[in-house]
Amino acid sequence: MQIKTLILGAGAAGLMCAAHAGAGTLVIDHARAPGEKIRISGGGRCNFTNLGTEPARFLSQNPHFCKSALARYTQWDFIELVSRHNIAWHEKTLGQLFCDGKATQIVAMLLREMEAAGAELWLQTSLRELTHANGIYTARLERDGRETVIRAQTLVVATGGRSIPKMGATGLAYDIAKQFGHALVPPRPGLVPLTFPEGRFADLAGVALPARVTAGGTSFDEALLFTHRGLSGPSILQASSYWHEGEEICVNLSPAIDPAAHLRAARKGAGKRSLTTELRQILPERLVGHLADHLDLSGNLADLSDTRAEALSQALRNWTLRPSGSEGWRTAEVTLGGVDTDGLDSKTMASKTVPGLHFIGEAVDVTGWLGGYNFQWAWASGAAAGRSIAAG
Ligand SMILES: Cc1cc2nc3c(=O)[nH]c(=O)nc-3n(C[C@H](O)[C@H](O)[C@H](O)COP(=O)(O)OP(=O)(O)OC[C@H]3O[C@@H](n4cnc5c(N)ncnc54)[C@H](O)[C@@H]3O)c2cc1C
Repeated sequence: MQIKTLILGAGAAGLMCAAHAGAGTLVIDHARAPGEKIRISGGGRCNFTNLGTEPARFLSQNPHFCKSALARYTQWDFIELVSRHNIAWHEKTLGQLFCDGKATQIVAMLLREMEAAGAELWLQTSLRELTHANGIYTARLERDGRETVIRAQTLVVATGGRSIPKMGATGLAYDIAKQFGHALVPPRPGLVPLTFPEGRFADLAGVALPARVTAGGTSFDEALLFTHRGLSGPSILQASSYWHEGEEICVNLSPAIDPAAHLRAARKGAGKRSLTTELRQILPERLVGHLADHLDLSGNLADLSDTRAEALSQALRNWTLRPSGSEGWRTAEVTLGGVDTDGLDSKTMASKTVPGLHFIGEAVDVTGWLGGYNFQWAWASGAAAGRSIAAG
């Protein structure tokens, strides 16, 4: 079978690319259903973009690479698409937009767009062999136990990263990149809970509080959650993308209230109150209990000198911790690293060296913050490749 464009992967980026690439496009995926990560995202409501999308909210070895695609297909373009399909949405927090209803509405919308553009989708289809000769990609596919050979002028690799292998993630994009001489930025788990030696925070499991977490020089003010295995919550997930094995993170347990100033003010009117009682005004009770095992929290407020109040404040606002690791691919929401952007054209996502080859979405070394940024990258990079294919 001879076609114009073969897209590998019917996830967020692949479906968006097909909707723009148009007739003569075939999308294949080894999964039973398209857009499975969209379906489970945002607790089933899909945080489909972020109002604050800007290049600074993406990590990449080349921070400039994402600019062109993000500018050509913006959060406003996706909001317009969602609204045109009568999908109701709302802003939850920090510019994060979610469906009012189910995330499957987004998958259905992309399928409608793709079909309207004249593209076709084959599910439960695996790539067995891929070659490129005389300007044509030849893909040997297995579908329903039968072999089919597809010949295409253009190949788009949209098979995502390594996160959550249980959901069908594979390293296919990296294998294809290597096959065609593209460099890789070593993939590693991102937006992932951090782990600590067993039992370190066991007594705190379930405690949550607003915190500022800093890793690799970047700070995030969001909720922090203690778990049986270590630390999680949005502030930790965000910081995890900036953290490398062996490094420390810094946790500010009271970013909004200066504990020293709070304790000094309380001392004036309630000198007989114990320090731990007063700390419970600004920190969760179980956390105060835990900290009492590691810091001197004895005595009343009247006994607390300014110097000790300052030292305690420092300890609470500069809690330095060294994670033993992360929960890894099993729970990582995204994959950092991937196909090196040096080898790609930022306007079209096309290979600079191999004619007709494109890489889009999470497979590429562009990773967003938590909060709808990763889908916006999938939409933008998919649209960039699709439009250039349609125009070609
Ligand atoms: C639990 C969870 C929640 C998330 N929530 C959000 C959120 O709310 N907002 C947000 O912006 N981001 C979220 N993300 C991240 C977001 O889902 C991804 O960044 C995005 O889906 C990447 O799109 P993609 O098309 O590049 O890859 P994917 O969506 O992963 O699609 C890749 C496709 O390729 C297929 N595939 C893989 N290997 C092969 C192979 N060998 N052969 C054939 N097909 C293959 C897969 O089956 C899949 O359909 C979440 C991720 C997870 C895991």
